[in-house]
Amino acid sequence: MATSWTCPSCGKRRRTKFCAECGEERLRPRDLSFTDLAARFARTLSSVDGKLLRSSRAIFVAPGALTDSYIRGERRRFLGPLQLFLIANALFFAVQSLTNTNVLSSSLDSHLHVQDWRDFAQSLVADRFGDDEQAIAAFAKSFDRAAIFNAKALIILMVLAFAPAAALLFRGAHRAAGAHIVFALHLYSFVLLVLCVALSVAEASLLLGGGGLASPVVDTWLSLANVAVCGAYIYLAIGPAYSARGLSRTVAAIVLTATLALLFVGYRFAIFVITFYTS
Ligand SMILES: [Zn+2]
Repeated sequence: MATSWTCPSCGKRRRTKFCAECGEERLRPRDLSFTDLAARFARTLSSVDGKLLRSSRAIFVAPGALTDSYIRGERRRFLGPLQLFLIANALFFAVQSLTNTNVLSSSLDSHLHVQDWRDFAQSLVADRFGDDEQAIAAFAKSFDRAAIFNAKALIILMVLAFAPAAALLFRGAHRAAGAHIVFALHLYSFVLLVLCVALSVAEASLLLGGGGLASPVVDTWLSLANVAVCGAYIYLAIGPAYSARGLSRTVAAIVLTATLALLFVGYRFAIFVITFYTS
């Protein structure tokens, strides 16, 4: 484009179609006409669509490739890692509410009687309420509501807790801290999508007359299948993402899979503590 224009966002004279500073596009004569607006709208939709399809495809068929692309700077063709994670997260919420499940939160009753930290939970509740049964029952109601909300809202905490484990294992790769967070975001996007599938399978078993997640058999097999799928995925993903090879790749995959599983347990505990002190 020969003639120059002034970028309305940064006030600099430009000669290119897009401002080199902020990316603002030069106004065209037909700008804001109905057809122009419709064309832009269609372009935005198909670009988001295209990115979403390309990214979700990559997440499933090429473990680790998205992380590798992002680290190498090939970013425009894909959704950003946080966007992808938030979409997977939204889908996970939707599937949970359709199947009436809350896999990441437990009721106060379960914390007090079932979970490994029940003694700790009992002592916290006793400290606050003594043996006032009525107060505890009232607290349980508000606790359970808040726990469901917190468990949904704070999933990103698990991602942030996972990243240091990857950083420690692959410290030899000399990656910036953000690279490990990107890896964790991509991994958890996959994990949440796997959970969506698992919940759907459990729901299908319920509809076909089985016990659903309430049946210990379905619950155990689904949990084991989830761990196996995620473990295999981590093994495949750390190849492209961290150039992991050989025995150290296997060891790293096992450690990261254990970390992933432990963080799910740790997350329930963290949600208990956070919900206890905030409700
Ligand atoms: Zn500009």
